[in-house]
Amino acid sequence: MTRHDVLNPATEEVVKTIELADERAADEAIARAQKAFETWRNTDPSDRARLLRRFADRLDAANEELARLEVANAGHTIGNARWEAGNVRDLMEYSAGAPERLTGDQIPVPGGMNVTFHEPIGVVGVIVPWNFPMPILGWALGPALAAGNTVVAKPAELTPLTAMRIAELALEAGLPEGVFQVVPGSGAVVGERFTSHPAVRKVVFTGSTAVGKHIMARCSDQLKRVTLELGGKNANIVFADADLDAAAAAAPGGAFDNAGQDCCARSRILVQRSVLDEFLEKLEPAVRGFACGDPSDESTGMGPLISASHRDKVQEYIEGGDVLVRGTAPEGKGYWAAPTVLMSRGPEDRAFAEEVFGPVVSVLPFEDEAEAVRIANDTDYGLSGSIWTRDVGRAIRVSRGVESGNLSVNSHSSVRYWTPFGGFKQSGLGRELGPDAVKAFTETKNVFFAS
Ligand code: NAP
Ligand code: MG
Repeated sequence: MTRHDVLNPATEEVVKTIELADERAADEAIARAQKAFETWRNTDPSDRARLLRRFADRLDAANEELARLEVANAGHTIGNARWEAGNVRDLMEYSAGAPERLTGDQIPVPGGMNVTFHEPIGVVGVIVPWNFPMPILGWALGPALAAGNTVVAKPAELTPLTAMRIAELALEAGLPEGVFQVVPGSGAVVGERFTSHPAVRKVVFTGSTAVGKHIMARCSDQLKRVTLELGGKNANIVFADADLDAAAAAAPGGAFDNAGQDCCARSRILVQRSVLDEFLEKLEPAVRGFACGDPSDESTGMGPLISASHRDKVQEYIEGGDVLVRGTAPEGKGYWAAPTVLMSRGPEDRAFAEEVFGPVVSVLPFEDEAEAVRIANDTDYGLSGSIWTRDVGRAIRVSRGVESGNLSVNSHSSVRYWTPFGGFKQSGLGRELGPDAVKAFTETKNVFFAS
């Protein structure tokens, strides 16, 4: 065990000092999860559903406490943090509907009867990044538990506090010991152990594409199931026929929400050349109006970046680009970066091509629909994106043409717990959320009964 200071990124003060787990502690947690699996998988579906609902009630009652903790640990705005805590509650509530409805098929076959079952997989290891510590945990946790699996989660070292509190709430709600555990530790120790321990049958990872590929390679050794949610470099395509006021007003939120530390951030704005000047005129006041500051202030649009090293990385992209608009950010303590719009010199421009994961958006003009789709797809990523147009036919064509898992027309919404979420290409593997989320935590078993 090593002691580790968890910092507040807005003040650089220590929020809490915690113990980081070593490999032995990870193994002990996995063993407890393996033992709990035998009981949990055989718990009546109605009881599993009831416990998930009680867990949701606890989460609901603790919404403000969890939100305040996230403001302190991750620098999220208080409004976002309340939504994030509410999202975990919603996931438990939604997933509570699944145990009693996890039906298989009866398939007509000659010579007997054929039935399918959706069996739980076993112990699921969930590796969570620092950008959305609560929702990303909840997306895996709800459906995994509903299907009868047990979960061991590793939060990011930078942001473990809300996950640790959520695990306490689960116990208070009556979830049996070992069904859901949080093991704070480093990726190199605890995360790696999930990929090598034979009792962990599935790994859910959200984070960088580089680490995601490493995890997939490691999981291949025991053919562990994997779900990967990785990076994005998402296009916000604004056509000349769009409501330009609405498109310009929404663009800063689409790019700078959570200080741009969002795999769904619309960090490339593609604007039809005939309206480029008009759009930029409208964009500038919207960017200046996106307040960067104290995340506990209700009127703040975005808080600080997560760490000093991350701020330095983001700063490099800003210094290497042609700045069109630069908003303001606090001075002094804290890992601040002001919202920034860059004019791209072309598709190879670093800030236009790479995931910055900060409040930096690059603008590039295009001539026509075909060019917009070509530029949008000229990336290894394929996570989200937006299309602004009043032409319904164009909205249909472009949304079918962009190779991306989550698109929105005339909005920047990507994440709803009712609908599937995940990436094309190197943005990920598999889907989370939506009506099929539970199936991703099951194995289909086929049984033939001879008659
Ligand atoms: P990362 O290294 O991919 O970290 C994500 C999670 O994986 C953390 O919990 C981390 O643990 C863990 N991890 C790291 N190495 C591991 C390994 N070898 N085996 C198992 N788990 C491992 O991401 P990062 O370094 O924090 O951020 C770097 C960049 O990744 C960002 O700038 C951004 O571009 C991208 N990113 C994307 C997302 C997303 O939502 N898709 C989220 C975060 C970051 P630790 O606690 O040790 O960090
Ligand atoms: Mg890393």
